[in-house]
Amino acid sequence: MTQGIRIEKVGVYGDKILIRWDDGHESTYGAREIRISCQCAECVEEWSKRQLLDPATVPSDLVAEDHLMIGNYAIQFLWSDAHYTGIFPFDTLRQMCPCSTCN
Ligand SMILES: [Zn+2]
Ligand SMILES: [Zn+2]
Repeated sequence: MTQGIRIEKVGVYGDKILIRWDDGHESTYGAREIRISCQCAECVEEWSKRQLLDPATVPSDLVAEDHLMIGNYAIQFLWSDAHYTGIFPFDTLRQMCPCSTCN
């Protein structure tokens, strides 16, 4: 298992994702924000890095139905728009942290 990384659904109807990192730092993201940053082959063209996903097609009330830890380095989410192929490395998520300390 991962060293203490915890993931919780927060927000009014689970539309936010809180990650508590192993160093105690907490990051809260909009589920939709993470979904739109998906780097999988369906969302981003591999060779050109061009975004294939049209963010307008991602529902505004998107939630993460479930998630899976990928080894010790990434999280895979099952989104309520039935997309689940994206893998989000901890490093990338941590860099996306919207809090004032990280920005
Ligand atoms: Zn994707
Ligand atoms: Zn932060």
